[in-house]
Amino acid sequence: MIKITDTHSHYDDKAFDSDRYELLGTLLSEKCEKIITLGCDLGSSRRSLEIAGKFENVFAAVGVHPENCTDERDDYLRELRTLAMHKKAVAIGEIGLDYHWEGSDRERQIRFFREQPVLAKELGMPVCVHSRDCTKEMLDILREFRPNGVMHCFSGSTEVAKEILSYGMMISFTGLITFKNAKKAAEACAYIPIDRIMLETDSPYMAPVPHRGERNDSGLIIHTAEKLAEIKGLSLEETVRICNENAERFFGLK
Ligand SMILES: [Zn+2]
Repeated sequence: MIKITDTHSHYDDKAFDSDRYELLGTLLSEKCEKIITLGCDLGSSRRSLEIAGKFENVFAAVGVHPENCTDERDDYLRELRTLAMHKKAVAIGEIGLDYHWEGSDRERQIRFFREQPVLAKELGMPVCVHSRDCTKEMLDILREFRPNGVMHCFSGSTEVAKEILSYGMMISFTGLITFKNAKKAAEACAYIPIDRIMLETDSPYMAPVPHRGERNDSGLIIHTAEKLAEIKGLSLEETVRICNENAERFFGLK
């Protein structure tokens, strides 16, 4: 039985309200080695820790997502530090920049994105980074910080991947690489050395083909692993073994 570590999910999402704990129990006994669930603001970070606390092999990341920083308290860092010191917290995330929506407060996003890696560094934790429609600004900040981090749900070009790798970061792939229109990301994936790649779902979003558009869960990560194995010309077993090890090492999972 192949069990895959899902390095990025959101089990506090209301999409899981009806079956959260039952689903996680089944996934961990049948399909997943370990699961990391990420907070998107202080409230969801608290809930993520609570979920992680119920399962030996579920871990949490705590952080404020760029889409949530407008509504988050100015002094969020104090509580975030306390949450990050919880024994099931393994990373600061989800953090980053998202310039997709016109009218979002970009200055506040940049402030939050510059502050949280400083806390991560101080606590010796990695960061999980979200980036949408902001490649130049993102790379400028990463070049300066060179965080011990992972660029999640990578959809960029080989050129951008090269930059990110040169900062020492990891890159993780969701079901997006199974989409027909994601040729560019698949090309980048072929270029990136497998010891720098991790697998993730971003559940409940980004369900892979043939489940595109449905509620995603960590069990569907098998389709992304199969696609990665195909791109790399490796067996599924070998691909999963390496990606699971990458996750153990990067997040310091015990
Ligand atoms: Zn996410």
